Amino acid sequence: MAETYVSDQPVGDEDLAAISEGFETAPASAVIRWAVETFGDSLALAASFEDIVLIDLATRLAPGVEVVFLDTEAHFPETLSFVEDVRARYGLNLTITRPGPDAAAFPCGTEQCCRFRKVEPLRRALAGKRAWLTSLKRTDGPTRADAPIVSWDASFGLVKVNPLVTWTDDDISSYLADHGLPVHPLVSQGYRSIGCAPTTRPVAEGEDPRAGRWSGLDKSECGLHV
Ligand code: SF4
Repeated sequence: MAETYVSDQPVGDEDLAAISEGFETAPASAVIRWAVETFGDSLALAASFEDIVLIDLATRLAPGVEVVFLDTEAHFPETLSFVEDVRARYGLNLTITRPGPDAAAFPCGTEQCCRFRKVEPLRRALAGKRAWLTSLKRTDGPTRADAPIVSWDASFGLVKVNPLVTWTDDDISSYLADHGLPVHPLVSQGYRSIGCAPTTRPVAEGEDPRAGRWSGLDKSECGLHV
């Protein structure tokens, strides 16, 4: 049942590490159930809409969970249209953020561009929340290889819950197929990791899925998961 959490770190790192360790072999639904029961309305789900596995799982347990989509104003039109399709399908409690006024001063591909179009809008959206759910996976790349399931996110000042962290891309594809869920329209065009249009390209068969993000730039993260 729900514990009393405050806005500061709710429990020590060691306690969160123990909770995380205990979920290593648990199904994603068990992790989400714990998060929903622990944090209630103070839980939000951040979704890129690259796939909708986490949305599907979370809304089965908490239909009204707040889903946050970061509209960077640089997304593919296919992504924006997919967001609206998914919103209608699930009747999502959807919050769409917009870039701050400073964003226009920074070109695509810079740290500041991500800061003002993603990081700061997410920080505002998560204000007052005690935990957030993400779709982060260890197989996304080396910087995420050791990501825990549950941890304290010092950057945003709340608990971070990654129910799909042990999943592979094949697990995602299988779940979508098994449940008859819609797939982002760009996947069929070779896009495997989908972010902003100017810095996302399709990848070749066998290529690292995230090689299509910030290709040719000295950048592999947008600042949300560091
Ligand atoms: S991914 Fe590229 S366009 Fe999108 S916010 Fe980051 S730097 Fe800007």
